[in-house]
Amino acid sequence: MRLKNLEINGFKSFSKKTTLEFESPIVSIVGPNGSGKSNVVEAIRFVLGEQSMKSMRGKAGLDLIFKGSKKLPAGSRASVTIYFNNKDKIFKLSNENGENINLNYDIISISREVYSDGLNKYVLNGGEVRLKDINNLLASVNIGSSGHHIISQGEADRILNASSKDRREMIEDALGLKIYQYKIKDAERKLERTTNNMKEVFLLRKENAPHINFLKKQVEKFEKAKEMKVDLLNFYNEYLKKESVYLEKEKHTLGVEKNKILNEITEINQKISSVEEENPAAENKNNEELRNLENKLREIRNVKGELDRKLGRIEGMIEMEERQKEKPVKSENISIHREEAENFLKEINEYLEEAIYMDVLENIAPILGKVKDIVNRFARNFGEETQPNNFSNQGQIEGLKSTQNEILTEVDKIKIEENKILDSIEKIKEKISKEIEDRHEGEKEKFTWRVRHQELSSSLQLISVKEENIKRENENFENEIKEGGALIGGDIFSYKNFEFEGMPDRNNQEEMRRKIERIKIKLEDAGALGGSEILKEFEETTERDRFLAKEMEDLETSINSLRVLMTDLKEKIDIEFKDGIKKINVQFQELFALMFGGGTAHLSVIVESRKIKNEEDGESNPEEDKNIPLEQGIEIGVSLPHKKVKELHSLSGGERSLTSIALLFAMSQVNPPPFLVLDETDAALDEANSRKYGDMLEKLSKRSQLIVVTHNRETMSRAGVLYGVTIGADGASKLLSVKFDEATAIAK
Ligand code: ATP
Repeated sequence: MRLKNLEINGFKSFSKKTTLEFESPIVSIVGPNGSGKSNVVEAIRFVLGEQSMKSMRGKAGLDLIFKGSKKLPAGSRASVTIYFNNKDKIFKLSNENGENINLNYDIISISREVYSDGLNKYVLNGGEVRLKDINNLLASVNIGSSGHHIISQGEADRILNASSKDRREMIEDALGLKIYQYKIKDAERKLERTTNNMKEVFLLRKENAPHINFLKKQVEKFEKAKEMKVDLLNFYNEYLKKESVYLEKEKHTLGVEKNKILNEITEINQKISSVEEENPAAENKNNEELRNLENKLREIRNVKGELDRKLGRIEGMIEMEERQKEKPVKSENISIHREEAENFLKEINEYLEEAIYMDVLENIAPILGKVKDIVNRFARNFGEETQPNNFSNQGQIEGLKSTQNEILTEVDKIKIEENKILDSIEKIKEKISKEIEDRHEGEKEKFTWRVRHQELSSSLQLISVKEENIKRENENFENEIKEGGALIGGDIFSYKNFEFEGMPDRNNQEEMRRKIERIKIKLEDAGALGGSEILKEFEETTERDRFLAKEMEDLETSINSLRVLMTDLKEKIDIEFKDGIKKINVQFQELFALMFGGGTAHLSVIVESRKIKNEEDGESNPEEDKNIPLEQGIEIGVSLPHKKVKELHSLSGGERSLTSIALLFAMSQVNPPPFLVLDETDAALDEANSRKYGDMLEKLSKRSQLIVVTHNRETMSRAGVLYGVTIGADGASKLLSVKFDEATAIAK
């Protein structure tokens, strides 16, 4: 037996915890009207997850909680727990992946609690679960949510009243197909989720596509730039090496040239200054000497002149003395001795000559003074001769002659000295003119050096210009390395390993530089600088896109497999449903005939379709409306024995009860539920039919437990356990186990 017991606590009229043990295949609940029997049935509905408040005769959750009585306070929560035997581990629960997992409990307890605020709580073996889990769990043991196995009071003919679609549901439930329906629902939900995911992924990929395209183009540019970089590096290696060789050589050559010029300039400067230093000193010295000698000569000549004049006078005096001694001279006749006159003239003449050669005016005046003295002396001598010659004597003459000789000796000495000076003057003059000549030579030499100096200075200037050029070229070289380095990194220095000897051709270098420039421009245009990041981003983005594409594929696969699953499940349901209907029909026919003593009854599957209006172009055309097949429904066809009535609604209350009981029992025979709850299903039956009903209960109870609420003695007699429900003085339902005789008494 599957069903073990039921605990009701605070539910409706059961204010206190009340337990029902289902120890017998048929348990009957008896009691007077309004004692709370149906509340037990509703407690079972409630705990099994019933969502319709109406079917529990309430409007809100609060209606299910004990409302209190004069003696008892109202409850704040209602709870019902049902216990099932699970030693065979038949109860299954679906996990997230839709797989059924057997629950490893010997006893399965399901609780449902409702609070005054309407909040519901489901508990499975102590752990809170969702209603969905309860439904799944119960479906695994053929307890469907349609509640076909719980027939409430007055609902004996519920299946007859139900719509063909609801009937189908009840039958599916009874056939244990509900579990497939849940799986289909799950698959539909998953399909919807997966389709949405797919849409999202599709949109994401669509959004990303332009960016990926952009990145792809960038990467292509970058790849091209990489190739260009290789070319650039090759060009750089050759160009920079040659340029460095050129610069080194140029610097060296210029350095050598410059040193050479500077040395030569230093030499020339030395030569020029040595020429300038030597000449003036020598020239000054000789001129000085010449001036001294000339002064000396003049002095000597003055002395000699003086001596000559003295000598002349003495000679004149001697002559005069001698003449006076020989022949006296009358004072009236003035005679001038020829020699005296000649001496006078000679003396005058010498002074005048001297004066003529004098180049300085102030030196002439003293000479002229001397000339005047000579003239005066001559005039005096001439006057003296007018005197009578009384004084002439030999002693005087000799004295004069001795003086004359002394003077002559002196004059001779002076002449020798004069000649010496004249010689010296001659020599010094020669020296000076030699010096002048030499100086002229020096000037000429100096001029030549100066011209050379000028030439060298110009060369030096040229070298400075060249140096400036080299400096600029060197700066360009360094800038080129910097710019190149920014484009190709540290590899730029690999030019040092490039092998080249000789002097590079400047035109070739220029040509190469232009090529390099062109590549650089292209590289910058390609935006090569951020290439590696773009490459990384491209790889990441394409990787993500690949991932999304894979996800799309997976989603598509899972959509397809969900569709396949749904189709399979639908097919399975269809097949099992049709098969189940056949089996039910066999049982239905049999039970129906048994109940009514003949007649026929059967279920038939109908397919309803509905029209979808074709409203294309905004106009409705009934001929083009489409028929969309709807879910299948179930029709019940009966034919009572000896009666023509075939319509269900024309049947009497008892007939309706019997028909629906026959169908319900037929359904239960084909796929027996663990238990059936029948709340006064037998109410409308007469005695004969009650017996037949009792027989069927017994037959049915072999495969399903039965809980029957009844006032019917016959039905009570078939039960193994009888519970009596009474309403106490406190207004709460009470449960007690009763014997058959007590039961009939209580039931009244
Ligand atoms: P009958 O034989 O006439 O069908 P019954 O035994 O099936 O009667 P129930 O319908 O189960 O009786 O019980 C109805 C009783 O339960 C009523 O008296 C009603 O007042 C009481 N009842 C229903 N809901 C509550 C509640 N929330 N709190 C207290 N009592 C309640």
